[in-house]
Amino acid sequence: MVETLAPCTHEKLIDLWHLVGNTPMLKLHYTYKGKPDSIYVKCEHYNLTGSVKDRMALYILTQAYKNAQIDPKDIIIEATSGNTGIAFASLGRALGHSVKIIMPNWLSKERMDIISSLGAETILVSKEEGGFLGSISLSQQMAAQGGVFLPKQFENVWNAEAHEKTTGPEIYHQLAAVGLKADAFVAGVGTGGTVMGVGNYLKLRNPNVKIHPLEPAESPTLSTGYKVGSHRIQGISDEFIPSIVNLQGLDSIIQANDGDAIIVAQKLASQLGLAVGISSGANVIGAVKLKAQMGANAVVVTLLSDSNKKYLSTDLVNQEPMKEGYIAASLDFTNYSPMAR
Ligand code: PMP
Repeated sequence: MVETLAPCTHEKLIDLWHLVGNTPMLKLHYTYKGKPDSIYVKCEHYNLTGSVKDRMALYILTQAYKNAQIDPKDIIIEATSGNTGIAFASLGRALGHSVKIIMPNWLSKERMDIISSLGAETILVSKEEGGFLGSISLSQQMAAQGGVFLPKQFENVWNAEAHEKTTGPEIYHQLAAVGLKADAFVAGVGTGGTVMGVGNYLKLRNPNVKIHPLEPAESPTLSTGYKVGSHRIQGISDEFIPSIVNLQGLDSIIQANDGDAIIVAQKLASQLGLAVGISSGANVIGAVKLKAQMGANAVVVTLLSDSNKKYLSTDLVNQEPMKEGYIAASLDFTNYSPMAR
């Protein structure tokens, strides 16, 4: 049982790890262009606060305590596009910290409300005030006063390491349990922690595995190197290439249209009962595209990054026009079978 009393103890950190990670993986069956096929999806919406970011947040806090880089009285301050804020609000409060989350003001209202409900403070930054980059510089200014722990998810090596030590091994062992190994992994890049960390671990086990970062077609920051266009896949493609991302060590960048991602996420919910967010739809598009290229025997893995609950005020719940070239037009989910945990 997790206690909620301050201050942080070693036991409390261990207890929290029972609520983070060890997520189920599904073999997702579908037909694409009329042909039956399948991919593997790691259900990260099963984490404590409903997203993949719990792993990174709890790992950073665990390492910070182990290395005496955080004081139990420190205020945790983080600039984030949402899920990280929810993760640090929940885990930080559980460990007895005050938490302040700085985020752009155009993100979904649910994210702000959830962070507030967890007892953390939200500070909103407009486009005019610098948007995402403005949020990061504000967090640094606030930290200069002292008594603050800054997780710095965009540059913290513990972010990718969280996935190298947890998500990657879980994927490896869940596939090994059914006699398989991953041939390819694809994930949308926000901080890049997921794609880099999972990639590092899977490559240790199989140097031939392909690791593909994914970006929105409307805002291809990874391909261009700078902020371009705008898109609706919250959580990925912020405004720059984070320093933990090493594109040279990765395979080709895969793109997904945001409208396509919305329709695929809607289909995952309405056809399979998998109520997930827009970036999960994008990840599935990436995996389906890769699988079509790699052939019937390839084992292609991706993540369902979060649940749909933070998107109930967004286009995710509206009728999205189908456009030519969308994967969603030729994709149909018929059934799924759960794999061993
Ligand atoms: N999807 C969603 C919904 C997210 O919140 C994030 C994190 N910003 C990602 C994908 C990308 O994860 P990462 O930061 O590990 O690249």
